[in-house]
Amino acid sequence: SLADRLQATMKKIRGKGKVSEADVKQMAREVRLALLEADVNFKVVKSFVKRIQERAVGQDVLKSLTPGQQVIKVVQEELTELMGGEQTRLNLALKPPTVILFVGLQGAGKTTSAAKLANYIRKMHNKKPLMIAADIYRPAAIKQLQTLGSQLSIPVFSLGDQINPVEIVRQGLEQASADHNDLVMIDTAGRLHVDDALMDELEQIKAVSHPDEIFLVVDAMTGQDAVNVANTFNERLDLTGVIMTKLDGDTRGGAALSIRSVTGKPIKFVGMGEKMDALEPFHPDRMASRILGMGDVLSLIEKAQASVDEERAKEMEQKLRSVSFTLDDFLEQIGQIRKMGPLQDLLSMMPGAGKLKGMKNMQIDEKKIDQVEAMIRSMTPLEKNDPEVINASRKKRIALGSGTSIADVNRLLKQFKDMKKMMKQFMGKTKGKKRGNPFN
Ligand code: GDP
Ligand code: MG
Repeated sequence: SLADRLQATMKKIRGKGKVSEADVKQMAREVRLALLEADVNFKVVKSFVKRIQERAVGQDVLKSLTPGQQVIKVVQEELTELMGGEQTRLNLALKPPTVILFVGLQGAGKTTSAAKLANYIRKMHNKKPLMIAADIYRPAAIKQLQTLGSQLSIPVFSLGDQINPVEIVRQGLEQASADHNDLVMIDTAGRLHVDDALMDELEQIKAVSHPDEIFLVVDAMTGQDAVNVANTFNERLDLTGVIMTKLDGDTRGGAALSIRSVTGKPIKFVGMGEKMDALEPFHPDRMASRILGMGDVLSLIEKAQASVDEERAKEMEQKLRSVSFTLDDFLEQIGQIRKMGPLQDLLSMMPGAGKLKGMKNMQIDEKKIDQVEAMIRSMTPLEKNDPEVINASRKKRIALGSGTSIADVNRLLKQFKDMKKMMKQFMGKTKGKKRGNPFN
């Protein structure tokens, strides 16, 4: 499925600490294929992939600390945008009743959705609904609506199947007015294919009922066909929105992605099952997350961004942990640690480092690092492994050999001692403390 494909693609890029332009290209290629295979409109796919590619190779992503996640975020945002961005609200009439017209092909889920939505709006907005049975063509269509109505205790207006649907709607609205129904659902007939006679009838029903919402009900399983159907209905009826049904099924999901950008009309509700409560307002962002299989990944990304400092600190801690802290190792580490950036910055990122005793003496002067290196290089292996042996004459020799002063050598030795002390404290305060602490 689309979700599976995109999830696989995203998984590949998620953990990447570095994302190259080639990675982005590869990702874009896979996203493109996944969308096309899911029956998303090819024009939609083309512009979509172009956008995510542009954004993903943008400076902010490639240079960010969590580029893999940033790329996913870009894809998620663009998917959301593709489906309309914001959730669109139901258009309720200022002056009752609110009239909602359901149109669409046969079997799309009009009748089911009309009942579901009547139930939903009654609960959410405290309305008193009436449903009008205006499908006189499909055998048992009226009976079906009546069954759902009695199941939900929602009245159904019907004049049988021998009267013109336009007239049924006109009289139904009169009934609603008499009974003070402030919500009217009009269930109309569908055809297997779009045809003119049906469109004419729907146009007339629209003219007499002045609907606040004209919902096209489409079956998500029909894929790209749903988009074509939406276009045709929209041209004739100027839809206000789409209800996409059967998203609970094994759908390829492409229609949900194309409908908004092809028709300009938002998906307002989705059907998630046959039961009467299986209807949900459509949230583009949640749908995007669902497609990407992210669920909680978005919040994870937010957390990751918030904890960037923490992560760098952990990296640093790991580095320091691995240092066995002979002066020789210290020398080696200096080179590595320097690559990570200004030492002062790194040290300040260590959780709680500022509070540790001895930290003040850890103020490392970048300019003095060269001197430190020189001093350590002037030491004998014995001295490097056991600094305690460095007496006055050894200090003099080291100072001479490194072009520094005895005071400099003293300072280094003091700093090194402080650092060991600090590391001891640090390790003691950190969870996952290793056995056999090398600083003992
Ligand atoms: P209509 O011809 O457009 O009025 O379509 P119906 O409302 O009669 O629905 C056709 C079939 O689709 C019925 O069996 C419904 O129970 C089923 N159906 C409608 N919506 C959904 C949905 O969201 N999920 C599932 N699984 N089935 C649905
Ligand atoms: Mg029906």
